[in-house]
Amino acid sequence: MAKIAFFSTQSYDRSFFEGNSGKHQFEFFETRLKKNTAQLADGFDGVCVFVNDQVDAGVLKKLAEMNVRLVALRCAGFNNVDLKAAEEHNVRVMRVPAYSPEAVAEHAIALIMTLARKTHKAFVRVREGNFSLERLTGFNIHGKTIGIVGTGKIGQAFARVANGFGVTLIAYDKYPDKEMKKMGVEYLSFDELLAGSDILSLHCPLTPETNHLINSGSLAKMKKGAMLVNTSRGKLVDTAAVIDSLKDGHLGSLAIDVYEQEEKLFFRDLSELIIRDDQIARLMIFPNVLITAHQGFFTSESLEEITRITVKNFDDYEAGRLSENEVSCKLLKNC
Ligand code: NAD
Repeated sequence: MAKIAFFSTQSYDRSFFEGNSGKHQFEFFETRLKKNTAQLADGFDGVCVFVNDQVDAGVLKKLAEMNVRLVALRCAGFNNVDLKAAEEHNVRVMRVPAYSPEAVAEHAIALIMTLARKTHKAFVRVREGNFSLERLTGFNIHGKTIGIVGTGKIGQAFARVANGFGVTLIAYDKYPDKEMKKMGVEYLSFDELLAGSDILSLHCPLTPETNHLINSGSLAKMKKGAMLVNTSRGKLVDTAAVIDSLKDGHLGSLAIDVYEQEEKLFFRDLSELIIRDDQIARLMIFPNVLITAHQGFFTSESLEEITRITVKNFDDYEAGRLSENEVSCKLLKNC
């Protein structure tokens, strides 16, 4: 039996994991894992964390001192874990590399469709008895050029759906994919992708190299009026630069499911509080910006898969088996 402390838990985490604990023992904390909450993991074998938990060198040192030897991520991205420090402190790190790429890809498509046809505005209007079409003019997706940054599991799922619209698909990835090429996706340089896309959708991981991939320089290279979609990680986009570009009328519209400072906001009901983050407050009032709070992954199919694979990770850890879901500097050959 492995004793696991869950951090950043919501009601749905509890309900999925409580009924599927197998032989393991779980305790659920609502708080994020960070320096001053790490102590809660004392007496546990491992911690189970999500996208905004802070698994940095300080936290890993503290976990190791308490003999906590497993960090199990309930997500695919592991940019919030210091893998070098994990190795140094002999802490194993496991993740859920693919639970449902389609869930995130379909959410990106939903965001694009919403912005293109203004259905979010139409919904509110009609509920208030306003049946006017004034200022609801949309645009066809058909015939447009969609650019994809990162054609891994999610980028490919996105490309397969987008292909059905009758669009030109272009992409940028360091490792072009044969299947994508067969489907007609044309790989270009990053600058060519920026210049050619009517809609640009980000599906690469956050790494030191991709941090602020979208900045004032790259925004200037995008087509005037283009749509930017980020369902990957907030820090891929320099928020201040995006706000400037929207204000100048260069960036045509923006859809984000992730946000640079999301750890202070997302997954919580702040509706009765004052939002102190001026950048998100500014984004929230643009008529051409659509924000969702990191819900790309959030389907029942995904939650079932995340639970199943995470419990399997606990089994592997307890049995001392190497897991295909392990992440480490050695396996990545790079940290
Ligand atoms: P993946 O590893 O299968 O694919 C990532 C792709 O990005 C790879 O093809 C890789 O070669 C490419 N890439 C890496 N560095 C790049 C760079 N500098 N420029 C261009 N391409 C680059 O990952 P995935 O499962 O497709 O997930 C992609 C990202 O989606 C995750 O890292 C995570 O940040 C995000 N995500 C978001 C949600 C959500 O709920 N919104 C859910 C799951 C994953």
